[in-house]
Amino acid sequence: MHVNPFLESTHFLGALFLAVVISLAAPSWAAAVSDVEQRVDDLKSLPVEAKALNDFIYKIDGQGAVFLVNTREGAVLIDVGFNRAQGLAQKALVEQYASGPIRKIILTHFHVDHVGALPVWEEEIAEGLPVITHQRYPYMARIQRELNPFFNRRYKVLYGDLVNSDPDPDLSYWAIEPDRPVYVGQPYRFSLGEVDFEVIAMDNTGEGEDGLMVWLPKQKILFVGDMFGPLYPMFPNLYTVRGEKYRDALDYIDAQDQILALEPEMLVSTHFTVERGAEQIRSSVTRMRDAVQYVWDEVVAGMNAGKTVWQLMNDISLPEEYAVSQGHGKVSWSVRAIWETVAGWYHYDTVANLYPVPVESIYDNVVAAAGGTAPLVEQASERLAADQPVQALRLLDMTQGSPTVDSLALRIRVLDRLLEQAQALRNYSEIGLLKDDRQRTATRLETLGS
Ligand SMILES: [Zn+2]
Repeated sequence: MHVNPFLESTHFLGALFLAVVISLAAPSWAAAVSDVEQRVDDLKSLPVEAKALNDFIYKIDGQGAVFLVNTREGAVLIDVGFNRAQGLAQKALVEQYASGPIRKIILTHFHVDHVGALPVWEEEIAEGLPVITHQRYPYMARIQRELNPFFNRRYKVLYGDLVNSDPDPDLSYWAIEPDRPVYVGQPYRFSLGEVDFEVIAMDNTGEGEDGLMVWLPKQKILFVGDMFGPLYPMFPNLYTVRGEKYRDALDYIDAQDQILALEPEMLVSTHFTVERGAEQIRSSVTRMRDAVQYVWDEVVAGMNAGKTVWQLMNDISLPEEYAVSQGHGKVSWSVRAIWETVAGWYHYDTVANLYPVPVESIYDNVVAAAGGTAPLVEQASERLAADQPVQALRLLDMTQGSPTVDSLALRIRVLDRLLEQAQALRNYSEIGLLKDDRQRTATRLETLGS
């Protein structure tokens, strides 16, 4: 056990009352390893509040948590939270519980729920408070900043009213140059008070190329940001449908091995989870690593055997011993991400795919050849009856240029079937996209019917 560096601090004794918030309940994943209680949607409703993780670390919760690490010579912040409103409330709690001035801000990665509130600390930063990021942060942030209108349209589908609709939003947090960039293979070590810090840059983590971990070697506490994603234990989101570069499976496995080598006794993820106990952490991290290793091996074997990406998306599933939540990362989508990470987008299926003429461009011809929308709807209906909702959806896609009340009504039934089936994994993005299509179809149906 580590020694409390603040036991004598009167300020700190007051704060110890908060330590009772620490939950010692048995980990929920042990009972149901294939899924977890928390859902990605729950992030939206996390209230801003301070929780003591031990006698010198606070988690200031919110949609993105802020971690306050107190020392005798001031404090370190890990991430700053989601947006200005939450950031201000979190900052007030930071100031209430900090053992002294904030000495450094460490950003675990570029995602807005971790850095969006950076402008709240503008003044302190201008006065010299250093910001530490991965060397790759400016690169990842640049992509988000330059493509903000593109991504925002997608976020509206997946995250609805959470999207900043300001036409000229403050994206300064994606324009910063770190005072101290951290490079892979060269941890940034410093001590403050009696606390040693090691900021470790990874090649690629569960959520991007600029992931930092913060390791407190004496206390064996590891802050991992979104290394594992929002749920725990979950399959990593190697491909996020909102759009981002693919995340590399082999780099992910390498990151898990680095975590296992540290033998952490407390594993602090930004969202929801604080895992405690070396053995519990070892077994759950090993499971997530092995799940990805298994999928990688299966994809490689299938590619070498000449199978198509569609076959592999269909065939590969996690065996019971590697079962983890797919509430955020989905195995079949990751199969395709692995494939396209190593082999790109051309699948040697039809040379037509080499040209900028999508298959949708001839759908109207198919409808004309069929003699109208009705015969295709009939075929789609048969496919749905044969429990092939995706084939039904493909047929209905062909009729989108000449929709009828029947085609739209059937599309809603097909989407409802898919939504039903999606309950097995409860994947946030899959359900969100299906619901969005259903909503738009219902609106079209209303317009057509009136
Ligand atoms: Zn996050």
